[in-house]
Amino acid sequence: MNKDELELRKGIIAACRAMNSLGVNQGTSGNISARYHDVMLITPSGVPYEDLKPTDIATMPIKGEYGSWKGPLNPSSEWRFHLDIMRSRPEVGSVVHTHSTYATTLAICGKEIPAIHYMVAAAGGPNIRVAPYATYGTPELSELALKALEGRTCCLLRNHGVIATGATIKRALWLAVEIETLARQYYLSLTIGGAQILPDDEISRVVEKFKNYGPKAKPTALKEAAAKSKPAAKRRK
Ligand code: 13P
Ligand code: ZN
Repeated sequence: MNKDELELRKGIIAACRAMNSLGVNQGTSGNISARYHDVMLITPSGVPYEDLKPTDIATMPIKGEYGSWKGPLNPSSEWRFHLDIMRSRPEVGSVVHTHSTYATTLAICGKEIPAIHYMVAAAGGPNIRVAPYATYGTPELSELALKALEGRTCCLLRNHGVIATGATIKRALWLAVEIETLARQYYLSLTIGGAQILPDDEISRVVEKFKNYGPKAKPTALKEAAAKSKPAAKRRK
């Protein structure tokens, strides 16, 4: 195994432990996958995260024989939706599945998360849908989840939990935490009279704004960094 793959496997384990310590998952519920070239790395089924070793992570071909896997332990029972997302959404580098309490509570009641806060735009649109119920690990669940994910980065699974996706493991985990925060805010707002929902065009604006969100180096700082990286002889001229 090369260094990059080892780092990715370690990243999956760190994220599994983080989702439990952050309070967005419990026990051996949930699972995490990451894309590595043309294979998917995925947590094995039912192994406590504190016991997981990098070599325990299973691999599955993304385009090869559907469902085949390598590793000392069988892949997560939810490998189908992880793999189907990887196959149909090339921009996705990681999938995080949790049973976080507030988001799952809403999913139990069949309540999608509407635009209660501008952060709903992190889902890519004005709501976080709930996929109808299907038994865990089945092709039906995967099909329903993919439909709920259309035009979105995440969804809830009825009477089950959450799927969050991202370009990286960190981003998908960040989104899983964000979904739980939104679910909690929505739940609390329902207890004190109900939420005021933002209009769709406002969420569209925020989706666009998010494309440029985050720290940026000042143009002058960029020039200084470029000058520093030039060889000394050239700088003197
Ligand atoms: P695994 O332990 O097989 O990954 O299953 C956990 C889960 O959340 C099933 O939906
Ligand atoms: Zn689950």
